[in-house]
Amino acid sequence: AKQRSRNGYQFYRDTLNIDVQPQLKIEAQLAGALDRGEFQLYYQPLVDLRTGIIRSLECLLRWNSPVLGSVSPSIFIPLAEAQGLILDLGTWVLTQAAEQISVWRAADQPDLYMSVNISPLQFEQPVFVGLVAGVLNEFQLPGDALLLELTEGSLIHDLEASNVKLAQLRDLGVRIALDDFGTGYSSLAYLRQLQVDVLKIDRSFISSMATEGPAFVSMILHLAQHMNLMTVAEGVETEEQRDLLRSLNCDVGQGYLFSRPQPAEVIKTLLAAPSPA
Ligand code: C2E
Ligand code: CA
Ligand code: CA
Ligand code: CA
Repeated sequence: AKQRSRNGYQFYRDTLNIDVQPQLKIEAQLAGALDRGEFQLYYQPLVDLRTGIIRSLECLLRWNSPVLGSVSPSIFIPLAEAQGLILDLGTWVLTQAAEQISVWRAADQPDLYMSVNISPLQFEQPVFVGLVAGVLNEFQLPGDALLLELTEGSLIHDLEASNVKLAQLRDLGVRIALDDFGTGYSSLAYLRQLQVDVLKIDRSFISSMATEGPAFVSMILHLAQHMNLMTVAEGVETEEQRDLLRSLNCDVGQGYLFSRPQPAEVIKTLLAAPSPA
């Protein structure tokens, strides 16, 4: 037993050496990355499953560090949240996203809108609704040019306060999506109590259709349709998935089948191309 625990400790320590050092390096680089202009937004189309037309874009942060190379948002977003950098970074994202959608709307796509991921800490800021209103005003945008993607985690810790804020955002015309639906602990229980417009079904459900069949996705879609929510399937990678989702009356698809997240210049040419039938 002694030997086993010593091995266990050894293993643990080696793991720490591999994992923690780069994390400290990442944290050190992250602290100044916004000021150094190292972030960029990429955009991924959300496609109407019936018509193939691009309805909107989700902006996704990219960090290309001259020291570390490109770092995945699933690594640096949690660190930015821990550092508090997410507030400034989130405001930067919101502003960039609004500016970009105002450019695309002015260039012949007046109904296009932008989905922006909002961290729980951002949403909890007392000034958050004011920030959104300010950005809309700055770029002369109606509220429906923006759709905010929130996860259950940011909404349920104070349901009442969340619903007050959601109502204020809706008064601005801004719509709300519940992101990663199905991955939380209590999605179903809270869905009834949250005022949202769009349900984004997590990629894990879409990829499981191939092996497990469409029962879960079908159930979520029925529920959302019953509640008059717009439905988005995340992580659509194959034509089979797209066809199945279409037959289940899912409204919108997002995933590598349609396009990876791309820089604005590439999206611009996608928007200009004639849409598939
Ligand atoms: P998310 O909001 O669920 O974003 C969708 C993620 O799925 C993106 O990863 C996207 O690139 C990826 N994806 C899209 N289609 C497919 C597909 O067909 N297959 C697969 N395998 N993946 C697909 P990404 O860009 O690495 O972002 C990861 C997460 O980081 C996001 O998950 C979001 O939670 C967070 N994030 C990204 N940008 C921001 C931001 O500006 N603010 C905040 N707060 N979080 C962000
Ligand atoms: Ca999202
Ligand atoms: Ca998601
Ligand atoms: Ca996700």
